[in-house]
Amino acid sequence: MKTLRSHVCGAWHTADDGFKPLVDPSTEQQIARVSSRGVDFAAVLDHARRHGGPALRAMSFAERAGLLKAMSRLLRENRDELLELSRVNTGTTAADGAFDLDGASGTLAWYAGWGRRLGEHPVIADGDGIQLARTEGFWGQHVLAPRQGVAVHVNAFNFPAWGFAEKAACSLLAGMPFVSKPATATALVTERCVELIVEAGALPEGAMQFVCGSTGDLLDLLGPTDVLAFTGSADTAAHLRDRDNLRRANTRVNVEADSLNAAVLAPGTGEGDVWDLFLRDAAREMTQKTGQKCTAVRRILVPGDDLDRVREALAARLAEVVTGDPSHDGVTMGPLATAQQLDDAVDGVAELAAAGRIVAGTGLRADGEGAEPGRGFFFPPTLLAVDDARAAEPIHRREVFGPVATLMPYDGSAEDAAAIVALAEGTLVTSVYGDDEAWLTRFVADVGGFTGRLYVGSEGSAGDAPGSGIAMPQSLHGGPGRAGGGEELGGVYGLSLYMQRVALQGEHGLVDRLAGLGGE
Ligand code: NAP
Repeated sequence: MKTLRSHVCGAWHTADDGFKPLVDPSTEQQIARVSSRGVDFAAVLDHARRHGGPALRAMSFAERAGLLKAMSRLLRENRDELLELSRVNTGTTAADGAFDLDGASGTLAWYAGWGRRLGEHPVIADGDGIQLARTEGFWGQHVLAPRQGVAVHVNAFNFPAWGFAEKAACSLLAGMPFVSKPATATALVTERCVELIVEAGALPEGAMQFVCGSTGDLLDLLGPTDVLAFTGSADTAAHLRDRDNLRRANTRVNVEADSLNAAVLAPGTGEGDVWDLFLRDAAREMTQKTGQKCTAVRRILVPGDDLDRVREALAARLAEVVTGDPSHDGVTMGPLATAQQLDDAVDGVAELAAAGRIVAGTGLRADGEGAEPGRGFFFPPTLLAVDDARAAEPIHRREVFGPVATLMPYDGSAEDAAAIVALAEGTLVTSVYGDDEAWLTRFVADVGGFTGRLYVGSEGSAGDAPGSGIAMPQSLHGGPGRAGGGEELGGVYGLSLYMQRVALQGEHGLVDRLAGLGGE
């Protein structure tokens, strides 16, 4: 059986104790084991500070962009092998594994292209300059300069490749070395990604370290110039960000947590392109990656008069999903990733069903197509419905991390739809489908304070819209409140976590030159 390793202080570390098992969620067979026992975390930080940071900061943005390009190529060249590891360890179909892996290589590639254009100057000019005195003798310009600490990346189980790569891309391009920690249960894919990068010698010494298993006392050792970038559940986030050392040192902590994302059908949507897009998106965003996406749709809001037709049409689409072992022909949705996820999904649907009713699926474990009866963490797409969205408190609080969503009516006004979306106290993404611009304008203004991204499905976007679940490197990812309050990606916004914004002041021409604006 494979023993996964950490890569720290320039060498592979194999633990000799404290192992946790990794299993194939379709067969429940153990496939590997993980432990970080014996890693010296103070030495890890020291290695990054002494080697990785100086090496990265000695490079230009364009040179660091070249590192990302090489990483992206390695992931692309080994895509088939990584897809197979994803299937074995996370139960993904080829399409779902590709969503993670192509998201990883694509994000690295996009930041490589964008970063190359930042060129040779060591800082980034941020926004426009402004005159601060009577004349241009005193001028102000904000710039972003690399922070001189270490970034620790803690990732969730559901995106073992993308989670690793999207954080790595921003950290490296900003000039900050990182220590990456995948979720233990699905670490197989990340470990192989790291192995490919290490074997190829793609990064300078100390720029990337990898901890497979527990982080030990690593987080207790972080200080004022360091960064903790966390993705996972709101409960774990609350526990991690509460550390004394992080609070005392004002260590930057970015949290990407869970989210009860909503899809909203605007009133008056007939059976045209927008209706098709709404149904296609709703079904896909419930079932892609077996619903284990932080951006999955959990709540579906429709005008009361549309409730029956949406329920029937969506139930018909969900009935086409074939749940089973992804190695079996015809399977379109794999199992949940772990036994714990299965237990949580069953418990979660029971809680939601007590506030409403199940209208498609069962909310219970099922046998999977092509899998041994009684084995595997299979769970059918399950749609619930409630008659009164405000009275059903659990549907705005309980994230069931599986192929599960709840259908609910609103009164057709933008104000009511936005107020119901807001009951979840902060989401990563809200999608809305309709063409009435006055209605949409009101909705955007009312819901904008409660969500990190707004995806508008209209006649004009129906042909191109990729689905609301894709976190694109060009657009911000993160949401307020319960979603963590963090910001990742979004071009320069993604880098700013790893950089210090500095208000540069002085004579106009000099300030411009220091900011890399080429002024006289
Ligand atoms: P989780 O249980 O909170 O774990 C997340 C990560 O935190 C894992 O790497 C875990 O490591 C680590 N961790 C847990 N306790 C820790 C501690 N005391 N010290 C250091 N690290 C610790 O979440 P999950 O089950 O992996 O992921 C599912 C959740 O993530 C869902 O709620 C989902 O919505 C959310 N998510 C959010 C986003 C986003 O971008 N907003 C993206 C993906 C997922 P171990 O595995 O070793 O315990």
